[in-house]
Amino acid sequence: MTASIKAEHVSNPWQGEILNPDRTYRMLIDGQFVEGGAGETLSCEYPYTGETWGSFPVATHEDVDRAVRAARRAYDEGWSSTSASYRASLLRKLSDLIDGDAKDISLLEIHQNGKVLSETSWEVPYTQMVAHYSAGLIEADYGHTVNSMIPDVVAYTVREPLGVVVAITPWNGPLGSLAQKLFPALAAGNTVVVKPSEVTPAETLWLGEKIMEAGFPAGVVNIVNGPGITVGRALVAHPLVDHVTFTGGTATGLEIAQICAGRAATYTLELGGKSPNIVFDSADLDRAVSGVMTGIFSASGQSCAAGSRILIQESISDEFFDTLATRINALRLGDPLDPATQISPVASRAQLAKVLSYIEIAQKEGATTLVGGGRATGPGLGDGFFVKPTIFTNVTNDSTVSRDEIFGPVGAVIRFKDEDDAVRIANDTRFGLAAGVWTENIALAHRMTRRLHTGIVWVNNYRLGELVMPWGGYGMTGGGREMGVEALRPYQGTKAIYIDLGNPLPF
Ligand code: NDP
Repeated sequence: MTASIKAEHVSNPWQGEILNPDRTYRMLIDGQFVEGGAGETLSCEYPYTGETWGSFPVATHEDVDRAVRAARRAYDEGWSSTSASYRASLLRKLSDLIDGDAKDISLLEIHQNGKVLSETSWEVPYTQMVAHYSAGLIEADYGHTVNSMIPDVVAYTVREPLGVVVAITPWNGPLGSLAQKLFPALAAGNTVVVKPSEVTPAETLWLGEKIMEAGFPAGVVNIVNGPGITVGRALVAHPLVDHVTFTGGTATGLEIAQICAGRAATYTLELGGKSPNIVFDSADLDRAVSGVMTGIFSASGQSCAAGSRILIQESISDEFFDTLATRINALRLGDPLDPATQISPVASRAQLAKVLSYIEIAQKEGATTLVGGGRATGPGLGDGFFVKPTIFTNVTNDSTVSRDEIFGPVGAVIRFKDEDDAVRIANDTRFGLAAGVWTENIALAHRMTRRLHTGIVWVNNYRLGELVMPWGGYGMTGGGREMGVEALRPYQGTKAIYIDLGNPLPF
């Protein structure tokens, strides 16, 4: 451990066990906290300083196999047939147990993915809400009694769990993303094996301790850690896994889909996006400028829903660009722990290299740099993985920066003529996660919500989200939906039951 977890930058310094960077983390397999079978470990890198800290176990193939078999056994031996109210009560108890940990966990996350305080402080409260919501959903769940068309038959359906679920989570919202997979899956009666990103393993391993404290039986939740390419792959390929739920990059998601399809396992994918943020001349322009910046610079652009294609109506583009450039130039880059910081580093060296390579590609393809362009260095930025908030103009919807998900603070501006043109450009993408529409014209707003081929549309806002609404999208975004009133459905099958009251049989 070479870095210390620093809390002196915040007005109310946080202390406690969670913030001890020398703390030993363990995986959770079959109710036991264990090291990796080969004794191998990984460290985390603080994106603001590049320093490494912590020691996190790496699972072997044997560890993965033990975790999946433990989940299978726990499922078969009774978890799947426990009452909904029992499972709900454990989820609520878990929520209570993590009640005081929000600030510490927020700080812990910052030391892994470098996000600013306002982007991490929601994760524990959200996790608690998802636990309660999932508990409520399963308590209120039901099947259907059907009016059978066959005389003397009682026909009804029940919803039942799928079996062993593997949850693979990303680094950009590690706890929230985990909660919205794990809790609905558990509520529905599945057992789960979790693999966090090696960039952000700490919160997940911490939650494992709380899960056991809450009283979940051994094997119901297992957590293995390590690189996706070894540990993640081994999990997805395991023949005893029934369903994989994944949030991450498109290439990884497509690989997972292929492997699952090979043995007819089911999967839920929440992948990337290239979401349009569309500003009409009927917009409140000040608010729209804020909305464009919120769309692409929140979390330094590392959001699946980032508004990375900025569509501006031609009639207002010059005025809009002037205001946008002025506002962006005033953004404050710096220490993620400083509440005044607006743009913090990107999450990893790999992500920094990826984002910078896209900036170079845009420049080679002839894009005009309205603002930013390149790595940000200077006082207060040290060796941090900072990228200048960047906007490219003079690009088309076919430019590489308009087609590929960059996952950094880099937006491409495309001008459009009218509503039809905006719809054509917005829908011309491989992805289909989200879209923003800025207008004070209510009829136009309603038409746009219907014409945009995306899973989410925001009117006069960007990035709103709440657990009572579904999250997910079309095309290469993967088609999966998480949360909302149907949050349990990806983790359930529907069984058709016929009770014959005495019909004659053919033999
Ligand atoms: P990945 O898709 O590689 O990572 C997401 C998760 O999948 C991590 O837990 C990762 O583990 C795991 N994983 C990686 N490879 C495999 C595999 N072959 N089989 C099973 N699991 C695997 O994303 P990256 O972190 O590499 O980011 C690359 C790009 O993906 C980003 O630039 C961004 O465009 C996109 N992305 C999208 C996210 C979203 O919210 N939709 C979130 C994160 C990334 P590990 O990290 O340990 O390797």
